[in-house]
Amino acid sequence: MQITIDSPDATISCPVNLAAPRAKMVVANWKMFGNLALCRESLPRLSAAVIDSVELVVCPPAPYLGEVGRLAGRSGVHYGAGEVAGESVHLGAKELESRSRVHYGAQDVADVTHGARTGEWSADMLAELGCRYAIVGHSERRDRHRECNQTVAVKAAMCIAAGVIPIVCVGELMSDRESGQTEAVLAEQLNAILPLMEKNAMFVLAYEPVWAIGTGLAATPEMAQDVHAFLRHQLATFSPTWAESVTILYGGSVKADNAASLFAMPDIDGGLVGGASLNVDDLLTIYRAANI
Ligand code: PEP
Repeated sequence: MQITIDSPDATISCPVNLAAPRAKMVVANWKMFGNLALCRESLPRLSAAVIDSVELVVCPPAPYLGEVGRLAGRSGVHYGAGEVAGESVHLGAKELESRSRVHYGAQDVADVTHGARTGEWSADMLAELGCRYAIVGHSERRDRHRECNQTVAVKAAMCIAAGVIPIVCVGELMSDRESGQTEAVLAEQLNAILPLMEKNAMFVLAYEPVWAIGTGLAATPEMAQDVHAFLRHQLATFSPTWAESVTILYGGSVKADNAASLFAMPDIDGGLVGGASLNVDDLLTIYRAANI
C-alpha cells in the first residue's frame, strides 16, 4: 500500500516502512558548531562506548557528514527499503556488525526530491551517504526559515520514501504554554504530519519546548512526561500499536546533570541534545543515562 503526497515540485509516494520496536536513543545535534577535529576526536570515543540497548546518533553540520560516515565506518550503507545504493550493502552481516554502531544523520532535508535548490540536499542524497536519520522541523528552522507544518510533513515523508528515518521536532513557545495552548499547538503540529505517513511508518518524535532550547531552562521531568504521554495518546488515535513503537525524545537543555531524571520517565525514550553534545564527556554521561 502506498500514500501519495503533493509536494511543491513533485508527487512522491511513500512505501510502507519498517515497523520496529521502540528504541532508546540519544541524538547529538551539533547545529552549526564543531569542526573536523571534533569529528575525529569524538567518533572513536563514542564508537567505543556504544551499547546495544541505546542508539547513539550524531547529527553534525552537513559538510562533515562524509567524514563522520567514514569515521563511523558506515559510508554507503543504505538502510531503507527499496533501491539500495553504494558498495557497502554487499557486506555480510558479520562485517556490518564489526563496524561502529554510532549512527549519524542530517539536521535538515529538502522538501523535494531534486531541483534547482541551491544549498539544499535531498533525502536520497542522505541515504547514499549512509545517514540513518534526518532531523526535520527543528524550531530553529521553523522560526528562521519559516517552515510550516505542511513543509515539515513533506520533509518527513521524503525521508521515509528514501529509507531515512525522520526525527520530527514539535514544541510550543512559552507564550503558548502561558496561555494554556501547549496541547493544541502540539496536536496541530503532529496532526499535520501523521495523515501523510503510512500507519506504522518508522519515525522518531522529539518534543522540544522552544523556550527550553539553548536557554538552560529544561522542562521538569514531570512537565515533559505529561507532554510525552499526550503525544503518545495522539499517536494512539491513529494506531495504538504505532503509538507504543514510536520513540519520543525530549530536547531542550538536556545536560549531564538532568538527563537521568528526565529519561527515568515512562514516556521519555531518550534525548535530542544540542549544546551539551559538543562535549564528548557530557554526551557520554547523557548517553549512559538513557540506559535504564
Ligand atoms: C536542540 O538543538 O535540539 C536542543 C535541544 O538544544 P539544547 O540542548 O542546547 O537546548
